[in-house]
Amino acid sequence: MPELPEVEIVRRGLERYIVGRTIDSVEMLHPRALRRHLAGPDDFAAAVRGRQITGALRRGKYLWFPVGEDALLAHLGMSGQLLVGEASRPLSPHVRVRLTFADSGPDLRFSDQRTFGHLSLAVGGAALPAAIAHIAPDPLEPAFDLAAVKARLCARRSGIKRALLDQSLVSGIGNIYADEALWRAQLHWARQAQVLRPAAVTRLFASVQEVFAESLSAGGTTFDSLYVNVNGQSGYFERSLAVYGRAGQPCPKCGTPVRRDPFMNRSAYTCPKCQPRPRARL
Ligand SMILES: [Zn+2]
Repeated sequence: MPELPEVEIVRRGLERYIVGRTIDSVEMLHPRALRRHLAGPDDFAAAVRGRQITGALRRGKYLWFPVGEDALLAHLGMSGQLLVGEASRPLSPHVRVRLTFADSGPDLRFSDQRTFGHLSLAVGGAALPAAIAHIAPDPLEPAFDLAAVKARLCARRSGIKRALLDQSLVSGIGNIYADEALWRAQLHWARQAQVLRPAAVTRLFASVQEVFAESLSAGGTTFDSLYVNVNGQSGYFERSLAVYGRAGQPCPKCGTPVRRDPFMNRSAYTCPKCQPRPRARL
């Protein structure tokens, strides 16, 4: 699943290649991609035809592209990709929606093998679509208020990792980045948010921002070649993961084997030495 830095890389690619262009046609190859557009695929096609895309914005893992007062809203789901390329290239069987532009230049294809992603038209949503207004700003957004998020985190009666994954508190931190940031900050996932010292919270958010920044620059190095492949593929960051998915392998800092614990139907990875488990509270 693409995580926040991957979606931000997609946004940057699209900002470069589709903003300022006028939509000429919408080809619907698989109506399921438009299931969130309640008025139906034909309404979607009619509503966006002839309109100019004026921006490429993101909140959490949602992307939106203002067209006048409204916006095209996209979520990549598990396997969605937004691909820009020569309009004449062959159509892959996973392309769900294809947009062509009035300038006859490269087209935009929404490809989604597992069809969890979706596109819709957010009426009146140019500034911020109503459907995503409840999502908290993420650490890569200018609207992110670090002091406020720290204060709300410290009021949580839950483990620190559960709080980090709570999209109403801070959006965009998934399982991978939560584990990596906790390892850097040397905090165990089960530590109670409420009893963390302010210095530990500061260290934690600095770590979140570091892992995001490193991931963005890793993706950014291949960015210029993304003209043909502006997409949500993850993977380039995996080589630099310290603990996530590395059970039994040595911690990069101290060499202790990384431990995997079950966590909310998923996993949590820690170094038992760098991130000691908190003592059970009586
Ligand atoms: Zn360690």
